[in-house]
Amino acid sequence: MELSCFFRLICLNLFWGLKDYRVSFHSDHYFRRHHDSSPINHELKFRTFAENLQSMPDKVKAVFLDRDGVLNQEMGDYVRRFEDFHVLDNFDALKTLQDRGYMLLIATNQGGLAKGWYTEDELAKMHNHLKQVYHEHGVELTDFFYCPHHPNFTGDCDCRKPKPGLLLQGIAKYNIDPSKSYFIGDRERDVEAGTAAGVKGILIDSDQPISTVLDQIA
Ligand SMILES: [Mg+2]
Ligand SMILES: [Zn+2]
Repeated sequence: MELSCFFRLICLNLFWGLKDYRVSFHSDHYFRRHHDSSPINHELKFRTFAENLQSMPDKVKAVFLDRDGVLNQEMGDYVRRFEDFHVLDNFDALKTLQDRGYMLLIATNQGGLAKGWYTEDELAKMHNHLKQVYHEHGVELTDFFYCPHHPNFTGDCDCRKPKPGLLLQGIAKYNIDPSKSYFIGDRERDVEAGTAAGVKGILIDSDQPISTVLDQIA
């Protein structure tokens, strides 16, 4: 056999060997991706779970805010119409709280829903507007929690303030430390709800600027 022929044979062998290796690699990869019963996958799943646990952020602190009389003008009863929804200028005050590291969440009784005075869509429109106006001033209102019930129409519930349900929802959803958190409201029932949820309640007058209570918040 000629020498060059011998080398050619070796190269050919190497080529097929590599090709076989690639095929086996691919099928192995396929197996790992598509067979949940594979022990490798269990190990992977466990590792991801453990990593997620490790990377869970520390508890956050939050300032809960009542809506009417705190973020928008108190109109005497539930604000029913979008035209009656007037945003209060608490932009700088809430920006200050945000800069101090507080997440901002809204907790509001919306018994007008149970009474049929407005729909969830109309409520969403008001809340989107509120979120948008504050966003334009550099303030992020992270979430809105509202109670759609009213005892005379839908019976008792766990979320209508002074019950703490709305705050407890927020605390659970965002991994909040209640002992480092506050609830600013213009009704005694807001303070009661805060206390029941383990957060410090701060009572203001309706439409009182939030800037006047900043010194009560660490
Ligand atoms: Mg209010
Ligand atoms: Zn409720």
